[in-house]
Amino acid sequence: MHRPVLLCSMLAATLLLSSAWADSSNPVRNLVLVTLDGVRVQEFFGGLDEALAQRDALDEYSEIALARERYDADSPQARRLKLWPSLWGRLAPLGQVLGNPALGNTVQVQNKVAWSSPGYVEMLTGAPRAEVVDNTLVHYPYITALEYAHQALGLEFQQTALIGAWDGFNTAAASRPDAFLMVGSHAGVPAPFSTPEMDLVAGLRANVLGLWEEGSDQWLTWAMARDYLRARQPRILWLALGSSDDWAHADRYDRYLEALHQQDRIIGELWDLLQSIGAYRDRTTLLVTTDHGRGRSGEDWAEHDIAIPGSSDIWLFAIGPDTPAAGESGRPGTSYQGQLAATLLEALGLDPAAWRSDALPPFPGVIVRATGV
Ligand SMILES: [Zn+2]
Repeated sequence: MHRPVLLCSMLAATLLLSSAWADSSNPVRNLVLVTLDGVRVQEFFGGLDEALAQRDALDEYSEIALARERYDADSPQARRLKLWPSLWGRLAPLGQVLGNPALGNTVQVQNKVAWSSPGYVEMLTGAPRAEVVDNTLVHYPYITALEYAHQALGLEFQQTALIGAWDGFNTAAASRPDAFLMVGSHAGVPAPFSTPEMDLVAGLRANVLGLWEEGSDQWLTWAMARDYLRARQPRILWLALGSSDDWAHADRYDRYLEALHQQDRIIGELWDLLQSIGAYRDRTTLLVTTDHGRGRSGEDWAEHDIAIPGSSDIWLFAIGPDTPAAGESGRPGTSYQGQLAATLLEALGLDPAAWRSDALPPFPGVIVRATGV
């Protein structure tokens, strides 16, 4: 796409046609994927779950009373608005949300584990992969959608980036560690792509004690990605957050809720940042999803596994220039985690059919281009 002949023909087309036509036919698209690890449909669509809050109150260290003050309300719609004000109050009506079981619209994990690595591999390779059965940190021999897009668009190393709070994101991102820039749990952005701010945040990420050894703080991870967006303006960014899963495994429902509320702030700030930068404004699709659900009851919500009902229930939020503003989907039916990969390619103006023949098709109606690409 950097060949002069093509550039000249694109320039001529732009000059000859109206700006509206030129905008809708312009194949330059960016993609930001945000993953929130292990966020249940119950909180995503219904906010604070009273049954879990009551159980949490039995823990003498719980601060659930404070969480109730902040997030309790009389209806699922009011509760989710308090927990996720940016998403439900501002962004959802401008995009699409899939996966609310109360409306008969579900998104399902298909892998037989419902753990993290199998989920991320499924969403990035277009289908569940039977040999991915745990969270072992190995690269699997599949060209992921991120990797394919990076190659197909002819991007430089740093123009595709993963910035994540766990090293398992690196291994799920691509078939090899040098496919594009990947920054894992406690790492910094390597020179020459870092900035003093990224280096400062890297020092904090490496030294601020996370809840578990393997993960780093989600706000610091966002702070690093925020500066990377500003300074390096990647065409493709995967921001992979994990604090939700960390607090859930610690069986602290009060802190889990705070982690979700912080994720909402990150999504709101991220969208505003994208819309404030010329290279991203109105030409960037934001996809937000989760790798797996969790148990549905107070007894099993802290864990997730295929044997725990609810662990396969996930959701999707999409917003961008090619996503019709349909809001929350009430269309009965089931879609699948693997459909994210082809959707991601469509958002970048690529034809999913040219990628893997065993990948699921895109989520229908999420990416729609008026003139086609
Ligand atoms: Zn987990």
